[in-house]
Amino acid sequence: MSGQSHAHLNHKLILQFTLISLIAVASGTIFRPLFVELPSYFTVMGIINTVLIFSVYLFIRSHRFPAYEMAALFFVAVISIIPLIAISGGVNSQFAFLLPLYPIMATLFGSKKQSIIIGMGLLIAIILCTALGKFFVDLTGEAYNQTKSISRGFWLAMSVLVSTYFGLFFQNRYRALTNELEQLAQQDPLTSLLNRRGFDIKLKASLAAAKRQHAVLSILLIDIDFFKSINDRYGHDIGDTCLKYVADCLKHHIRQTDVLARFGGEEFILLLPDTSHKAAFTLAEKLRHVVSDLNLDELDQPLTVTIGIASTQLPHQHIDDIIKAADLALYQGKMNGRNRSELATDLSND
Ligand code: GH3
Ligand code: MG
Ligand code: MG
Repeated sequence: MSGQSHAHLNHKLILQFTLISLIAVASGTIFRPLFVELPSYFTVMGIINTVLIFSVYLFIRSHRFPAYEMAALFFVAVISIIPLIAISGGVNSQFAFLLPLYPIMATLFGSKKQSIIIGMGLLIAIILCTALGKFFVDLTGEAYNQTKSISRGFWLAMSVLVSTYFGLFFQNRYRALTNELEQLAQQDPLTSLLNRRGFDIKLKASLAAAKRQHAVLSILLIDIDFFKSINDRYGHDIGDTCLKYVADCLKHHIRQTDVLARFGGEEFILLLPDTSHKAAFTLAEKLRHVVSDLNLDELDQPLTVTIGIASTQLPHQHIDDIIKAADLALYQGKMNGRNRSELATDLSND
């Protein structure tokens, strides 16, 4: 998922959560007095909390300060719940049951670090509340019972621990699956090389590094010669097998820092960081020879490639222009008889 759509989803989730909290608190404030008799403090706090949550809801909905939406939600969650818990018996409070939701919330909206901080913070708070239970005022009128309070504190702490653990477990799985999907989305299934999308991502990083270090980089476009006739003569399956062999062969003869990708049907692109056009030409010639020496059992003819080469030493420095120049050189190579390496014209003159 792109960063932008992820942020949008997070915004929607936070907004929905705030809306649900608003409905819950407002309806509790309005309807509870009809069924349960509690001191008017609870109604006053209910009204304050409703106004508070409604303001946060409007703040989040305006989407003017996206970086602070999460903080606003936590702020209101803490501000609205702590006083309620404090005046209704600490761990004995009915509102204490909401606490195990917090680590799950942190997992859904935030990071692993936030879930751990919130989970551990709550755990410490619950232990303290249990130990100091008899000093809590309980305006609900329930009599303090030490054994019951310790038991409630214990189970509350357990729920918080379990919800923190499952939150972290969920995050780990979610991260692993997202990484796997991201990898798959960048890979060509036939050759297992990077696809164009994967190449573009690596290209951006290499370009940034090259600019930082004022280094030169080269591009090779490698196209299999007469591949259509190979397909026509031996069938598409053998054609696929040849593509895999060529991909493996290229992969085994480049450096780890070079980036190889399948650029299209029977065309590969190779990015060579920190490599001048001359060094790129030497490598192109080596690759051309290793491919034509492959001697595939499936074919009774050699497989050859034509390679177009361009580098950032060209007068036009934009990478799209470099790739275009390599493509033109490749075309020139095809015109000049195939099975050859061809430097982009501006460079072949110097
Ligand atoms: P040239 O030397 O000018 O490059 O000739 P060519 O026949 O290689 O080039 P052309 O563009 O005419 O044909 C490319 C062929 O590559 C046609 C297409 O069927 C084949 N091809 C593209 N992708 C695949 C693939 O995934 N598997 C197989 N088997 N063939 C493919
Ligand atoms: Mg071809
Ligand atoms: Mg082609």
